[in-house]
Amino acid sequence: MTRTRRAGSRVLVLNSGSSSVKYQLLDMNGTVHGTARLATGLVERIGERSARLVHTPAHGERREREADLPDHRAALTAAAEELAADGLGLDAPELAAVGHRVVHGGRWFTEPTVVDEGVLAEIERLVPLAPLHNPANIAGIRTAMALNGDVPQVAVFDTAFHTTIPEHAARYALDAKTAEEHRIRKYGFHGTSHAYVARRTAALLGREPSAVNVIVLHLGNGASASAVAGGRCVETSMGLTPLEGLVMGTRSGDIDPAVVFHLSRVAGLAMEDIDVLLNQRSGLMGLCGDNDMREVLRRRAEGDEEARLAFDVYIHRLKKYIGAYCAVLGRVDAVAFTAGVGENAAPVRSAAVAGLEGLGIEVDEPANTARESGPRLISPEYARVAVAVVPTDEELEIATQVFALVGS
Ligand code: ADP
Repeated sequence: MTRTRRAGSRVLVLNSGSSSVKYQLLDMNGTVHGTARLATGLVERIGERSARLVHTPAHGERREREADLPDHRAALTAAAEELAADGLGLDAPELAAVGHRVVHGGRWFTEPTVVDEGVLAEIERLVPLAPLHNPANIAGIRTAMALNGDVPQVAVFDTAFHTTIPEHAARYALDAKTAEEHRIRKYGFHGTSHAYVARRTAALLGREPSAVNVIVLHLGNGASASAVAGGRCVETSMGLTPLEGLVMGTRSGDIDPAVVFHLSRVAGLAMEDIDVLLNQRSGLMGLCGDNDMREVLRRRAEGDEEARLAFDVYIHRLKKYIGAYCAVLGRVDAVAFTAGVGENAAPVRSAAVAGLEGLGIEVDEPANTARESGPRLISPEYARVAVAVVPTDEELEIATQVFALVGS
């Protein structure tokens, strides 16, 4: 698609959820690392009796207010007012584009895409694959279009980075016709984060992304692993939906699919209840009643047996995926930990790689437990594989991709 390139250097990044909108305004020609965050904000409890808006400008006091915001349009309008009050209005010529995080882009959206009615119809067509997320993303895009029709709206898809996964890794061994008819295959999620972290890890090693094989472990409340060969994703742990793969805060990750038949036939649960059980009442939460790794670690340190088992199940799964992805990649240069748990929980990092010295993977405990926050290496110098902690920044990655597409 050809578009006039925009003169401005600001990108507004919107992450619209079902009842919340997160936003960041970035200046891509800023002084710090080439970009500057001008403002960040969050609107939550959209549609509930009292929504909350928290707005934090880079230069100024954080502002918080409660308001009646019945829908995304009201929420985004309120956010736009806050930005305007800081002299950062969305009608400013400095605004080059609005970048939208879109969860499901199916097989065809492999790159950031300038949104028009055709693209919106395509995102709509993918709603059955992401019934909670894509409708909220569409609402965010439509609202931003209504607020400023002149500025390009660009969709950045969570699935895009995974569209390079080869067919033999993306296909399930299901009846081929059924799978095709219902678009059942591995799509993967958290792609923006995996892309960013894989690239930053290569930079940390002082090498080109194309020369490095990385296993990225994105461990937040949702969690996924990916195998990235020379900058291209070749395997990831989430599948048709974000339920597959690692043990997460509240999701089971991999289970025998026959558990679903058993829950239906023997336990008498309705499909909706099984969905809720596996997505919201499983994982760490299901095993020990807490989904927050900080709580699990605290309880485990106090000798709590349930928390210990939950931790062990979580780690065992993680270790299996690291081993599997070593096999998939053949040669591994780095293992990178990211997101809330990966960036902060040293005990998770050391337990996940314990016993993997034979694969060349180990951590240096003083480096692992050092109180640092930036991208860093935590493996001993002699280790064959670098182990890294690389804080993710999905908003920066979205803004970077958007600016590369529309910026001047
Ligand atoms: P998401 O974007 O998936 O909601 P995040 O990447 O922000 O999640 O990660 C949130 C999770 O990170 C929390 O649920 C918590 O389990 C974990 N976490 C955050 N800080 C720490 C910490 N200091 N130690 C251990 N776990 C942490």
